[in-house]
Amino acid sequence: METANALRVAVVGAGPSGFYAAESLLKQRPEAVIDLFDRLPAPFGLVRYGVAPDHQKIKSVTKVYDRVMGDARLRFRGNVEVGRDLTAEDLRRHYHATVFTYGAALDRRLGIPGEDLDGSMSATDFVAWYNGHPDFADLSPRLDGHTALVVGVGNVAVDVTRVLAKTPSELASSDIADQALAALAESSVRDVVVIGRRGPAEAKWSTKELRDLGELEDADLVIDPADLAITDESRAAIADDAVARRNLEVLEELAARPLRGLSRRIHLRFLLSPIAIEPDASGSRVGTVVLERNRLEARADGSLGAKGTGITERLDAQLVFRSVGYRGQAMPGLPFDERWSVVPNDHGRVLTARDGEPVAGWYVAGWIKRGPTGVIGTNKACAVETVTTLLSDELPEIAPADADPAAVDALLAERGVAVVDADGWRRIDAAETVAGAAAGRPRVKLCTREALLAASRG
Ligand code: NAP
Repeated sequence: METANALRVAVVGAGPSGFYAAESLLKQRPEAVIDLFDRLPAPFGLVRYGVAPDHQKIKSVTKVYDRVMGDARLRFRGNVEVGRDLTAEDLRRHYHATVFTYGAALDRRLGIPGEDLDGSMSATDFVAWYNGHPDFADLSPRLDGHTALVVGVGNVAVDVTRVLAKTPSELASSDIADQALAALAESSVRDVVVIGRRGPAEAKWSTKELRDLGELEDADLVIDPADLAITDESRAAIADDAVARRNLEVLEELAARPLRGLSRRIHLRFLLSPIAIEPDASGSRVGTVVLERNRLEARADGSLGAKGTGITERLDAQLVFRSVGYRGQAMPGLPFDERWSVVPNDHGRVLTARDGEPVAGWYVAGWIKRGPTGVIGTNKACAVETVTTLLSDELPEIAPADADPAAVDALLAERGVAVVDADGWRRIDAAETVAGAAAGRPRVKLCTREALLAASRG
């Protein structure tokens, strides 16, 4: 596999951006060799742990990543946490270049009183839990309320709403984590209220995702047509936005449908912000959410923002899912822009946070480069841009002994890291898919680190 004087590149994070960066690098520079690291034993990042389990078609993009994984010039090194098992400086010593593609694993908060009451949680944690992410195996989210409030009108909010409103049989054929399937089957949630702080024209969901909310087996979609009346400013703002205009049409179609009297309901509401979450009589559980009505106001950049009117209403709810976006995290040793929660960069080239000087040999792609936006495919162009930047740069040299691929493995062994390689991942994959075939499901996920590591050893 190793070519003399090969360009040695580390890619940190085996999600979509990591695979697209690796694919582009191997294509543009056939003699390059890559070590692809991930802190989890299993690859695929948000495709495995973020994309909803009932969206198997989206998950099938892993076929492309499997091809990259099978390339003899790439080594998968799973269960290795850069920043802990290997430092950024270790990478600098062993690789000519490192592309950091570790995403945005944290969630944004609302910053309102009562946000930490029992029953109020982050949608991104809930998503990780139902997708079998090993760090969330013990989450045990409460699902014993009647009404759940979902704050935010992006695609994650839609995913969470659908999972809350689907029947057990609608979820059973997916690869949802077993423990989540069992817990959701016992859920007493019957009303899911989804609120956007701006209007229906400003919602971030995709049209297909929105439409899917109207196709559930046992959930009516409740939209007040009066809520869809938009201002002239809003109409003008979406004049050139075909997706927003289509979304509005779909909302109007959905609002006009007669209700079917089903046992669950999804309510879509707009121009509302939660301003406080109040406890119930126990003093510790979510009981009521105070919502403030907003109006739209033009911002300095011409876009429309939400402005509180001071008019409030109270919603009895026992569960709150904040679905207001992901947030990137700093990695020790790597510059970080606290304001935007990204690594400062110029077309993927890492820049120092203070004076914006390029940091030789370090690059970023994906959400940690541009923030948590876009669909999976968006990361392809983003990664290609980064790799093109990398290949146009003069890279730092590394000592021949450090360039030996065995040197990094020796370092990890010395540090007692149980590395999962591509064969180890194939064993995990086989164990999960064999169990899935027996149950008529795409796979039965192994949801703890111990189970994943045991399966990787065969
Ligand atoms: P998102 O698309 O950025 O949506 C975040 C939502 O939260 C927006 O409605 C936003 O409203 C709202 N929000 C932000 N701060 C708020 C606050 N303080 N109070 C009330 N509302 C607030 O983020 P996401 O849903 O987490 O998704 C992340 C990315 O993954 C997106 O690009 C998404 O399309 C993608 N994704 C795609 C799929 C799919 O294709 N099926 C599935 C899941 C995720 P404003 O617009 O007013 O800021």
